[in-house]
Amino acid sequence: MKKIAVITSGGDCPGMNAAIRAAVRVALAHDAEVWGIKNGYAGMIAGDMRVLDSRSVGDIIQKGGTFLGTARSEEFKTLAGRQKAAANLTARGIEGLIVIGGDGSLTGARHLGELGIKFVGLPGTIDNDIWGTDYTIGFDTAVNTALDAINKLRDTASAHGRVMLVEVMGRACGWIALTAGLAGGAEIILIPEEPFSEEEICKKLLESRTKGKQYSIVVVAEGAGSAIDLGKSIRAKTGLETRASVLGHIQRGGAPTVSDRLLASRLAETAVRALLNGRTEIMIGYQCRQCVEVAIEDAVGKKKAIDPELFRLAQVLSQ
Ligand code: ATP
Repeated sequence: MKKIAVITSGGDCPGMNAAIRAAVRVALAHDAEVWGIKNGYAGMIAGDMRVLDSRSVGDIIQKGGTFLGTARSEEFKTLAGRQKAAANLTARGIEGLIVIGGDGSLTGARHLGELGIKFVGLPGTIDNDIWGTDYTIGFDTAVNTALDAINKLRDTASAHGRVMLVEVMGRACGWIALTAGLAGGAEIILIPEEPFSEEEICKKLLESRTKGKQYSIVVVAEGAGSAIDLGKSIRAKTGLETRASVLGHIQRGGAPTVSDRLLASRLAETAVRALLNGRTEIMIGYQCRQCVEVAIEDAVGKKKAIDPELFRLAQVLSQ
């Protein structure tokens, strides 16, 4: 295989640029030509792609987002859309594809594979919800952003003796909340994977005051509910002063951490080598500090469970 393309799709995440850079430079080191597809599958359907050289991916390793752009494409979900996209690749002699994205993007790649396009996927999403990899590209940066916010909110919560609720991203999954909450010393962490009741939360917050705690941090995964609504309800039920902050898209931006840059670079190198060796219909995951091949049907359409030990530890430490 001598001609491949790289694409970023779905929600952007810090580290996508590092992955593109590594994919391009590893491919060039193996004398392959690399094309960059703009704006996800929408750009593939539109034929918006160009050859990338080593310099074209200079000065991006430190930047969040994706210099190729990304998008969500409804047309790609149709067979006609995917046929158009596949035809644009074959017309340029592109034989294989590196897809960097979340579960939806990798599912899209799987369907493109049914049309004969060889592909290798990379798990790129801040949510860390992809099965078959210990970490996804972007997760570490997002968690550090959330942690930085928790640290700052702790200062003001402490000054006023308030209950500070912090809503973090993660869609239907609690990895960001659990990890940032544990590292940030949150008193309560609410995630969709673990049931909770408002009564229990109120009781715990009131008890902590009697134990001498002057303020509380509650981390809420977006999939577990609204921090704003919960804050109002806690205030009404306990009389405690509450404030809620929704971190939102700030968690998707920023310079990728060392961990994300290394993860992205290592996964991308393994992906390109696999693709150039004719491997297809796989995702490269990171398991026990190794880059491994995961069959695409095992990786997509599932949600990676949270680590129950981490949740248990967070509860013990929040006493
Ligand atoms: P994130 O987890 O960060 O949101 P994602 O890759 O899961 O990223 P999605 O919006 O779910 O984001 O998917 C991105 C794109 O992948 C969609 O806009 C669509 O073009 C394509 N896609 C998603 N699901 C499918 C599917 N079942 N069949 C074909 N294409 C799909």
